[in-house]
Amino acid sequence: DIVYLDGAFVPAQDAKVSVFDRGFLFGDSVYEVIPFYRGVAFGLEPHLKRLEHSLAALRIPLSIDWPAVLNELVTRNGGGNLSVYLQVTRGDAGRRTPVYDASMQPTVFACCNPIRNIYADGPDGVAGIAVIVTADLRWHRCDIKANGLLPNILVLQQAREAGAAEALMIRDGILTEGGSSNLFIVRSGVLYTPKLGSEILGGTTRELVLELARGAGIPYQETDLSYENLLEADEVWISSSTRAVVPVLSVDGKTVGDGEKGPLWRRMFELFSQFHHRLMTG
Ligand code: PLP
Repeated sequence: DIVYLDGAFVPAQDAKVSVFDRGFLFGDSVYEVIPFYRGVAFGLEPHLKRLEHSLAALRIPLSIDWPAVLNELVTRNGGGNLSVYLQVTRGDAGRRTPVYDASMQPTVFACCNPIRNIYADGPDGVAGIAVIVTADLRWHRCDIKANGLLPNILVLQQAREAGAAEALMIRDGILTEGGSSNLFIVRSGVLYTPKLGSEILGGTTRELVLELARGAGIPYQETDLSYENLLEADEVWISSSTRAVVPVLSVDGKTVGDGEKGPLWRRMFELFSQFHHRLMTG
């Protein structure tokens, strides 16, 4: 495994970060996860745009040629199907102090993980999942892709221990998103998803779902959704970069729709596959 750390490509075991790095001490850092299929990035631009948003929110200044760094990293790791994780921390202050100096040098890290090429196996290769619904315990700037992921880890572990693959979170009676995904429901042929704001992460896959829906004439609404809306849905999906759209077959043990992967999900997965095909064939 070759990783990128502060300008160098090195074996993972040789990459070292200071114990006084603010990412380690305070979670004073942001990240992205970007899938590459057969060495080609899927949605690089929207991810880099969101990274800019996160860095600006934390006021971390950074100038770096990400496409060059990430392509080099993927090539050095053999190309293929990889998710690239990148993280930028405010840097190493040499001591532990909450207040920071604006002139600090950020720490920049990136590594790769093998992933399955979901487009190779088609919709039949996608397994529907079970989810649970639980309280959203996060802060009020969920639009920033920050590394303070303790609430997400707790709910994802809770889901895992309940035999579910994702935890949907609810705040003040309104569903926000999954621990690592955005939420969609289908009712009477209309697609619904929670609206953007500081209570959810603006998912790059969420944005692509809406773009593809627009192109295909699938009606959609960005709106508040309740637990009842979820239980009454014909279909429920989650979306994230490495999983595209995944059908949810049960919520808190209750069957969604007829308990099968839904027709609109199949249509959307097909639209994703076509989008991916166009990307790969230029
Ligand atoms: N919401 C949360 C909390 C996430 O961690 C993620 C990332 O996986 C998403 C939504 C989906 O974002 P994206 O589609 O850009 O991967």
